[in-house]
Amino acid sequence: MKYYILFGPPGAGKGTQAASMVEKYNLCHLSTGDLLRSEMAAGTPLGLQAKALINAGSLVPDEVVEGMIEAKFNSVEGVDGFLLDGFPRTIAQAEALDGILAKKGEGVTAVVSLMIPDEMIKERIKGRATVQGRADDASEETILNRIRTYHDKTEPLIEYYKGCGKYHEIDGTPSIEEVRCSIFTLMDKF
Ligand code: AMP
Repeated sequence: MKYYILFGPPGAGKGTQAASMVEKYNLCHLSTGDLLRSEMAAGTPLGLQAKALINAGSLVPDEVVEGMIEAKFNSVEGVDGFLLDGFPRTIAQAEALDGILAKKGEGVTAVVSLMIPDEMIKERIKGRATVQGRADDASEETILNRIRTYHDKTEPLIEYYKGCGKYHEIDGTPSIEEVRCSIFTLMDKF
């Protein structure tokens, strides 16, 4: 099984690129943001707990997303691997992921990182707000908190994965097609 991490700041194009990646490589797309939004829409206790944090642009507790990911690893069948999107987002989550995979005798295959500058993050999120209607895309304050949270909590993962030789960065600023091409060229190697 392959375990890819699709990494990058909010608005880098992870969700957009994930669709073609899962199709080409027969992967299961696991977006913790999507899973949490489904819980919120269904009004589950977990969804209710997560709502205020998500709408403020803060992270939900590590154990919540770690549990969701492990449950999916153990229940999804018929794929050649998983594409993790929006997870891990903290060093603690990355360590938990290593532990979950080690129990299965597996490890992270590669981190595919889409990089864009902060100014483009804001533009892209504002553009997306008009199309997808996500509450956490609508307010300037929430967007700024998500960018801050990314730099403080998630960016340190770059060094974590560089340290084990798994980090691969792709320029996320060109067109969707150009970025997709660069991603496929990279993933064909694994
Ligand atoms: P996303 O769709 O990946 O931008 O995630 C939307 C929101 O869901 C984030 O701003 C967080 O509040 C929450 N979330 C998603 N993934 C995680 C994660 N791995 N750890 C903590 N919170 C997360």
